[in-house]
Parts: sequence; structure tokens; C-alpha cells
Amino acid sequence: MRGLSSVVWMAIAVGAQAAEPGPVAKAPGILVNSPIMALSAAAAGAQAVGPVAVAKDPVAIPAKDPATVPDAGKVAPGRAVNQAGPRTVVESTGYARTSLHGEVMDFIRQIAATSPRVALATLTQSAEGRDVPLVILSQERVRTPAELRATAKPAVLLMANIHAGEVEGKEACQMLIRDVASGRLAGLLEHQVVLILPIFNADGNDTLGHNRHDDGPELAGVRHNGQYLDLNRDYAKLESPEVRALVALLVHWDPVLVVDMHTTNGSYHREPVTYTTGGNPNQPKALAEYMWGRLFPAVAGSMRARDGWETVPYGSFADAGHPEKGWENDSIEARYGTNYVALRNRLTILDENYSYADFKTRVLSSLDFITAVLEYSDAHAGEIVALVRRADAETRESFAGQSVATGWRLDRLDDVTIRGFEHVRTPVTAAERAKYPWLGEYRMTPTAVQRDYTVPYLALAVPTLTVALPAAGYVVLPGQNDAVANLRAHGIALERLDQPCTVKAERFVVGKVATAKSIYQGHVLVTVSGEWVPAEVELPAGAVIVDLHQPLARVIAVLLEPSSTDSLATWGFFNRPLVRQWSSEPGDYPVLRLAARPAGPTTIMPAE
Ligand SMILES: [Zn+2]
Repeated sequence: MRGLSSVVWMAIAVGAQAAEPGPVAKAPGILVNSPIMALSAAAAGAQAVGPVAVAKDPVAIPAKDPATVPDAGKVAPGRAVNQAGPRTVVESTGYARTSLHGEVMDFIRQIAATSPRVALATLTQSAEGRDVPLVILSQERVRTPAELRATAKPAVLLMANIHAGEVEGKEACQMLIRDVASGRLAGLLEHQVVLILPIFNADGNDTLGHNRHDDGPELAGVRHNGQYLDLNRDYAKLESPEVRALVALLVHWDPVLVVDMHTTNGSYHREPVTYTTGGNPNQPKALAEYMWGRLFPAVAGSMRARDGWETVPYGSFADAGHPEKGWENDSIEARYGTNYVALRNRLTILDENYSYADFKTRVLSSLDFITAVLEYSDAHAGEIVALVRRADAETRESFAGQSVATGWRLDRLDDVTIRGFEHVRTPVTAAERAKYPWLGEYRMTPTAVQRDYTVPYLALAVPTLTVALPAAGYVVLPGQNDAVANLRAHGIALERLDQPCTVKAERFVVGKVATAKSIYQGHVLVTVSGEWVPAEVELPAGAVIVDLHQPLARVIAVLLEPSSTDSLATWGFFNRPLVRQWSSEPGDYPVLRLAARPAGPTTIMPAE
């Protein structure tokens, strides 16, 4: 989940007027218009105005008591789950508790030992030393990337528990593994190989405590990993063993679709499953158009018609006191896995199940959701492979010289219908305000009266600040080993300059280096302002060339443009050259831009 930003929460809490719900919906809870025109409007709106966007993140908000939420997501149960094979912890305890790391390991080992469709590998060791299991489902008993390539089938990745307090994805993944092994869902493997990380944050999972006021189970893990890091903010800086290994998986197994499973406790509604795709303005537009135009309508239709579940795109009311203002998803920076995967030109789904639906509903509806997604991807495997290969080719051939958005505003992607409730104002108590000083006088509390809202879905990032990209690429000057190691870990192709050579380049003249007021993910985020200016430069041997003519060019631009919200500069990789000892003047940004490749010979650096 992402919770609400402080700004949004203030808007909710301060909403001093009675709720003015939007019109009662007649349309189903999926996007009702074609998103194609709306998406293409984003490019037309791009212009370089406004300040550098400051990275933000949700803040803690007071948890809500599910007992006070009427009929939260409780809808008709999905089709019966097969009971053949071993039973999961939730099945054997009547959904009273969620599985511990050791129980997940025992369950998947037992299945892998008996099923030819299931292989077990270890992604990595967690920060605290636990194995992070990778389950591989295939007709061919694939165990390695080389064996995957021999099948000529694409891989698809499901991952759960990155936030280890959000547990139903972990349970649904175990059931799916069991049901593929037993044969009930073996048809999912006709045209694809399915990779599953059922317990990605193994350390957080076993740090049990009372859950976040989800409607069961009573005990659940915590959000952070063993390093106190939110793993779903680590995709640019890559400082956790878990995400570093996951990105290595993306490099070597190259899944064409990644599904990341969470639980949301934002606004109140009746759909148990919500979903979205990458929203960063720098991702390939064709992939988001495919998701909204093809995959999501098919999956939502299957969930409703066959399984009896209603679904809705992921978000929260931008202003709960005024639902008509829109349904918003503003978590679109590259540090989030869903957006990062899209920047790598791959299809991506954020699955957020509704916190106030009871635990059994969440497990069964999310199981039906991932099943419907895998049915779609298996039936359309060839089409999806062609789509992502085309995105790779277009990025490699034509992204250099275009522009990257470093600031944006959210606009209407389409209209969406939320099956919600009428709300009343509830005063915020003095004790609550003492603990959460950003709260206003009121918050909006749902009543038992159901009400549907058809409102704009504010999930289209329109650039407000853009930077034109160089025609060739970047050069990282010697001495920046941590930055080069980060680029390699992303799988970016790098070359080392063998001999000094003189080039026409651009260097970034630093105007100001500003730091955030508080620590975030263990870092003090840095905002670097300045401008690129032409310069003739003698590049030393050992400089690292980062050519934009490669499929990961979008990731390169996000990491190396200093004003990007998730640049290596933002995350502090260049603090030492930018702010020099014993000097009050800004230092040098140790990355240059190239309009043409240097003439001198280079050596391709080995992949990590
Ligand atoms: Zn989450």
C-alpha cells in the first residue's frame, strides 16, 4: 500500500463541508473510455516550466478500525479453491493466521519434491540471512535462465510480501503453486514460464506484531526489511540484497510481465481488488496503453463474470470530502517497482487488495486475480513478447535526443467508477492531532449507505519540467565506483575508455545543492540545480561511457540526469564531488553528456 500523502490527508481532514458525492454510477468499475487519446495528450503537454519536483512519500496516518467500515469489500466469494495437495497455513487454520518464513519454505519444498512442474531456487539471502525462495513453474522443469531460453517461452513474474505486513499475496501465491502442481491450473504453462517470489521480504515477514488494522489476520509482519528499508523504494539506489537480486532476476530471466502484490488501506470502497500499471511519464506509452486498453479490461471482465469479484483501478480519493475531484494514484516515481519495471520496457501490474475486506476474501480474490492475469498472459504470450521487443527497439533507436520528464502533474487518464459509501465528517480528537500534527479538524468516515462515484482517474502524469537528452549518452568520470556499480547492477551496458581523448561534451554547471530537512530511507535526499553547458573536455582513460542507444536508456536518463527525482545525485551517490571539503562553492557533477561517441577505443565492461 502507499497510504495517503500528507497533502492529501490534510485535504481529507480539513474538508469542512459535507461530502458532495459524484453522480451515481451506471458503468462498471473499470475504465469506461479509451485511454489512448488521453495518454497521447501527455506528450503534447510537455513543457519546461516550474521548479524541480521534490520527491515525496506517504506519511504514516492513523490506522482505521475495520470494524467501523461497513461491508468492506465483502462480496460473493470466488470459485472454490482446489483442496488437492498440501494445505496452506491459512487453509488449515480457517484463515486465522498467516504463514511464517519456515512454513512457506516447508510448503514449497514439499511441492517441489513431488511435482515435475515446480522447481525451487534461491533468489538471495535476506539482510538477516534468510533464504528468499524463487519458485519456477514450467512444463519443462526449468531451473535456470539458460533452460528458460531453451523453451523459447517468456517468463512472467509474480511477487508478494515486499511489504511483509501485507500478507494475502503470499498466501495466494502458495495456493497457486499448489494448484499448478496438482494440475488444476497447469494450463497456465502452455506458452509461458511462471516465476514466483512468494515471500520477498522474508525478514519483515517474521517480525510479527499486530497488523495494520487490516481485517485479519491478527498478527502480521512489518513493512521494512532487515535493514529498516522499504524495499518498494529501493529500485533506483539498489542498496538492499533483496532488490539488488530482484533486478538481477529482471536482467537474467527477463520476465515480460511483473505483478507486485500489496494491500491498500486508502479510501473506502467495496471492491476487494484494485490494480494499476506503471505511471511514470518516462515509460513507453505503448505499454500503458496495452495494459489499460487490453489486459486490464479482460482481467476485470473475467474476475466479474467467472469469479464474482468486482475490481477497480488503484487509487484514493484526492479529496474524500469532495469525491468528484477524482480518484488519484500519485506514486509514480522510479523508486517504486511498478514504475521501475515499466521504465525497463516491460509490462507491470501493481495489485493492491483492499485492507478492510476480510482476510479470506482478500486471499481468494487476489488468487483469482493472479490466475486471471496468468491466463491472459499465457493466451497472449506471443503478442506480449512482440510488444516489449518493439519497445526495446524503439527505445534503443530513438530515445537518445528526446527528453526526460523531471517534474509532472497528475491529470485525468479516464473516468472510473468507485463502488463506495456515503461519508460523514468525524472530528479529529486532540490526542490524534497531538500524535499526527498535520491532521485538520475533521476526517471523512464512511456510513453504511452504499454510493457509487464516477469520477476522473487522476493517473496520467503530464510533464511540467523536461530536460532534453544528449544525442549519444553520458560519461561517468573516474572515481565514481559506487555509481558505476549501481549502473552495472541495473544491467546497463557500459564501456571503459581505453585511452584519453578530447571530445565536445556538455558539463553540468552546478548552481545549488540543497538537502531535504529530514532523513528518508536512510538518506538525506539531495536536489541539484544548474544547467548543461557545452565544453571541450579531455576524457581520461578509465572514464565510463554510458551509451543511450540501448533498451535501458529510460533507466539511464532517470539515474544520470541530476534533476531527476530518482537520480543517483538525488540519492547521494555524488555528494563528495558535489560538496567539497573546505569549500563553500558547489563542486563538479562527475558525469558529462556526449553528442557523439568518443573516437578512442573502449572496452566493454563485463555484466554483473
Ligand atoms: Zn504495500
